[in-house]
Amino acid sequence: MVRTKAAGLWLALTLIIYCSLVCPAEAEQLYLNELLESHPHIQVPKEDPIVRTLELNLEPPVPGLEPEALPAPAPLPQRKIALTFDDGPDRINTPKILDILRDEQVVATFFVLGEKVERYPEVTQRIFQEGHLLANHSRTHADFAELSNEEILFLELEPTSAAVERLTGYYPRIMRPPYGSLRQDSVVFLRESGWQIVRWSLDTFDWDSTRNSPEEIIERVKTQHHNKAVVLMHCNGPATIQALPGIIKVLRGLGYEFVPVNQL
Ligand SMILES: [Zn+2]
Repeated sequence: MVRTKAAGLWLALTLIIYCSLVCPAEAEQLYLNELLESHPHIQVPKEDPIVRTLELNLEPPVPGLEPEALPAPAPLPQRKIALTFDDGPDRINTPKILDILRDEQVVATFFVLGEKVERYPEVTQRIFQEGHLLANHSRTHADFAELSNEEILFLELEPTSAAVERLTGYYPRIMRPPYGSLRQDSVVFLRESGWQIVRWSLDTFDWDSTRNSPEEIIERVKTQHHNKAVVLMHCNGPATIQALPGIIKVLRGLGYEFVPVNQL
């Protein structure tokens, strides 16, 4: 009697476990069969469509449509841009700018002041050794509109290029007047004396402390970039250093090649 009770209990327990595991699946199948009988237009796919898609993708490509056979996309027109840094070298900012340019593999142009070249010869040499172009921005940052042509040449330009040459062996013949200030007769005089005058086409305003947040500087580059642009920046403020990686990223994303001003 006890054995029968125990067997009955075991059977009941087995049924409960079976129903809890199997019955839902059976009930679902039953419901599906009833549904199909009452709705004969319903088609049950025999194979999982995702699996079929995968199988189709594994088929060999149609001859003539292999990627190699497709025509190559037309190359993008080469666009060049020149980053330029004025008023250096200095002990703090110029090395940081050089670090960023080195890390990003970007070459630039430095319009240096003769007085600072004499004060920071190691930084001047580093600019040259790292492949950047050294150019002349006067000796004392004087306003050239206030000077005679001879004063511009003999007091400002020549001493600066001579100082660069003593340190590097390279005598710059490219100049940018401080403030962009130059009389027309001085333009003619300097050109006849063998100087190339370079101003700028994109002012980042990194020199203007009232509107030179890194975001504003980057935004100006984003909205004003153009092929063969000469971008004006300076060695004398932290805003330039903070904005520089972003500027490089934006311009590189637009397909620009960074070149010194004599390669535009
Ligand atoms: Zn300047």
